[in-house]
Amino acid sequence: MLMDDVPAALGVASPAPSPAASGEAPAAAIPSWLASLVVHLLAVLLLAASDLPAAVEPPLALTARIAEALDDPLHDAPLDVELAAEELDVDAPLVETVSADVAAAATPVDLASVTEMAIAESSDSLAPLVAEVGLLEVASTSPAEFLAGGYGGRSAAGRAELVRRAGGSAQSEKAVEESLDWLARHQLDDGSWSFDHRYGECQGQCDHAGTLLNGAKGATALALLPFLGAGNTPLEGSRRRVVARGLDALVAMMEPTRHGGSFYDGGQMYSHGIAAMALCEAYAMTGDERLAGPAQAAVNFICYAQDPQGGGWRYEPRQRGDTSVAGWQVAALKSAFLAGLAVPAVTPAKASYFLDSVQVDQGEGYAYEQQKLEYRGATSAIGLLCRMYLGTDHQHPVLRRGVQRLADAGPSTNDAYYNYYATQVVFQYTGGEGKMWDRWNKKMRDMLIETRDAEGHARGSWQPRQGDHGRDKGGRLYATALNCMTLEVYYRLLPIYQEKAFKEGFDE
Ligand SMILES: [Zn+2]
Repeated sequence: MLMDDVPAALGVASPAPSPAASGEAPAAAIPSWLASLVVHLLAVLLLAASDLPAAVEPPLALTARIAEALDDPLHDAPLDVELAAEELDVDAPLVETVSADVAAAATPVDLASVTEMAIAESSDSLAPLVAEVGLLEVASTSPAEFLAGGYGGRSAAGRAELVRRAGGSAQSEKAVEESLDWLARHQLDDGSWSFDHRYGECQGQCDHAGTLLNGAKGATALALLPFLGAGNTPLEGSRRRVVARGLDALVAMMEPTRHGGSFYDGGQMYSHGIAAMALCEAYAMTGDERLAGPAQAAVNFICYAQDPQGGGWRYEPRQRGDTSVAGWQVAALKSAFLAGLAVPAVTPAKASYFLDSVQVDQGEGYAYEQQKLEYRGATSAIGLLCRMYLGTDHQHPVLRRGVQRLADAGPSTNDAYYNYYATQVVFQYTGGEGKMWDRWNKKMRDMLIETRDAEGHARGSWQPRQGDHGRDKGGRLYATALNCMTLEVYYRLLPIYQEKAFKEGFDE
């Protein structure tokens, strides 16, 4: 068991963190690296405040655009999509000006709480990690440019080439397609999904339904991600109707708040991070301005929900963070950045600061939370992937050792959540080549191909395994979405460190 103490990936409320010890923290002298960090953060705040990106106008007329696209003779998908535009029209202003969120997120670091945190086990590893945060500049890349780069692997041609190059197979691609079929069969009439997948046409034919009943936002977003990962958008791909309906349903579930658009539900901030990721990816892939407003609003809420002092995220907005919830938010921020949305510089800077506070074994691994600084496989994989998203140098020795440790442990036979993250880490780190990747990939790929269900209504899906912490809440839908994305690793997101190499390989 790699994550015995990590609550379920989806919505398992854990006891509130033990009271912060900040009041009892010794008034230690402030070390020079910390002073430097504070100065750095202040500079970042000033920069953020002086160069605020304009708020994106809420568009929200996606449905009409989707209907038009599907009526376009160039798109030969079934034309039975009946999506009423009013379903998606939300009059409330979903997008606040980013400046309000910057102000909210920019609470100065409280030095008392800083000193009591075990921020980094060596200042050696801290300094470069903070200095090299990759999200510090707000993206200027337009979605169209990005589509040609970062998500280009999802096009049919790019996908086939990357599968071949990085060790996917015809069988792994068949498994992806069949799991997308299963997800499509379990989409509900209103376009959403439920962790209890038995509604709709299933009628209980598939077992292992999830028990999280008020998690429609998280379930819908989690089910959408594998479709997007395989290149399906409302405008492209054989499953564009499924994706269009799903995005419609997701956007309709967004709740406008003073702090942005919230997808907080029974899956809590997990649901929000996953939903933000889905919207940002969909926007990045389509460049459809009508998705920009909801995506930006969801990003704004992430910025608001960040723990103003510790920099992490937890089940509830602004609680002291845990690594697992933080992982989804950081991934969403990276997608937002790549999509050209506004990400206040302070947010990823603070996320790095949070990671410093939960790293263990000199940064090789990451604990679930500061209160229990123990190495865990899943949270280590999450932490390492976040470091990569945040711009840590590929050759950083701490990163190298952390990846090696995951690779030595190998894929888990029962923990889809660990496998989802660890596979991305090993792939991103190796660029999908070399012995480390080959060894990991063969084991992971073949295990997933062998363990999926092959018969009946469950065909193409995976049972959640004993020992996977999302098993009960998320059920079969959760396991299937994660495992499908694990098999999409070859093309789902071009390797962070190898982007140019891959681009030159097929984008001439
Ligand atoms: Zn079923």
